Amino acid sequence: MKLISDCSRRSFLSRIGAAATLLGAGGLRGAVAEGQSSDFGKESSRARPRLTGLGSTGDIYAELGVNTVVNAAGTYTALGGSLMSPEVMEVMRLGNTGFADINELEVAAGKKMAELCRMPSGYTGLVTGGAAAALLVGYAGILTGDNRQYIQQIPDLTGMPKTEVIIQKSHRYAFDHQIRQTGVKLIEVETRDQLLAAINPRTAAMHFTNYLNGLGQIKVDEYVQIAKEHNLPAFNDAAADTPPISRLWKYTEMGYDLVTFSGGKDIRGPQAAGLLMGKEDLIRCALLNMSPNEDTIGRASKVGKEEICGMLKAIEMFVASDQAAILKGYYAQLGQIARTLGRIPGVTSDYEYNPEEIANNTVRMAVSWDPAKIALTKDQVTQQLAATRPYSIRLADDGDGSGKNLSSNPRIQITAWMLQPAQEKLIADRLAEILRSGQKAA
Ligand SMILES: *Cc1c(COP(=O)(O)O)cnc(C)c1O
Repeated sequence: MKLISDCSRRSFLSRIGAAATLLGAGGLRGAVAEGQSSDFGKESSRARPRLTGLGSTGDIYAELGVNTVVNAAGTYTALGGSLMSPEVMEVMRLGNTGFADINELEVAAGKKMAELCRMPSGYTGLVTGGAAAALLVGYAGILTGDNRQYIQQIPDLTGMPKTEVIIQKSHRYAFDHQIRQTGVKLIEVETRDQLLAAINPRTAAMHFTNYLNGLGQIKVDEYVQIAKEHNLPAFNDAAADTPPISRLWKYTEMGYDLVTFSGGKDIRGPQAAGLLMGKEDLIRCALLNMSPNEDTIGRASKVGKEEICGMLKAIEMFVASDQAAILKGYYAQLGQIARTLGRIPGVTSDYEYNPEEIANNTVRMAVSWDPAKIALTKDQVTQQLAATRPYSIRLADDGDGSGKNLSSNPRIQITAWMLQPAQEKLIADRLAEILRSGQKAA
């Protein structure tokens, strides 16, 4: 997903912070294995079962023959999203100490979510099997209400009154598959006039893709106003749009009837969990359309009791987190890499950080090099980093660099967002080794 924004560029020299604790590769594997690298807290010394067989080495990925990834990319689902804190893991464990009626647990969890996420009165929450699942069950609930027959028949909408969802053409994206999964037809509009003309008795809802706000003619606040004027529910997908923390309440406050966030991105809850916030009646109908309830479209989007409990703990910790300190930590890790690379002639590092960036808001460090001094392309460096063993070092998508890459020098991007302590040293050393291998004779 390519996100274009104006990033402020700052000299890395002004931003090199205190060096984080440095460990060698062996020390790092130990730290990873023992899970001492949470983003929100330090591991509590808690007795663990002594494992035999699977898990006994403390390195489950190595036991399975899978490379561990050093994640300099971000909260990519394909790399595992984010890591949960020991506290979240502990609450998940507590969720596994007994049984609960899942529908009852969901309703209670929704109330807790409403409190933590400062939802307006008349709103509540639902823990779903991810933000994509929240789209599916949220739209299903809009379409079916609590009509049992409708719940059983979708995505077949035969005989149902509402069958269309309006979306701005520029807001079409990979996750609208989860809207289409309910059987609705997406009606694309570009202008405000087209939107007004598209509203008809078959219109079920209006969809907004928050990170594409800049591309659409109708912005996030105007869009919900139009929905209100026509008594239509508006759904905002803000899955990757924390930090800042305040985004958690921004869109329900704005009046969106349904809003979703991923649970396993920056909120650092369980990977298979998401937040659906919305008007109480819509949330009630969303739950009717999902697991544990059978013969529903959302039965395949199961969320377990452990995820429900862990998700709430993650939200609680996220809301209380010191984002300025976390950001400072990222700069410190990136600064360590910049300092190592700064010793190589022709290599420069620059920070790019836009606190207003809607999605995947974090500091990125662009590392570029003078091709006259280092004969390596961006792709060669990226591939060599990924081929590194035993840790595959993965980088953020660079986008097309348009508007940012003023020189034509090859350039890669690094984030410390999902790095664990001491991994910056691994990246610095390996990247320095790769770049030096391409140095041309003077
Ligand atoms: C990641 C993402 C999703 C899906 O979230 P999951 O929690 O992984 O299901 C949906 N929409 C957007 C915009 C996303 O970035």
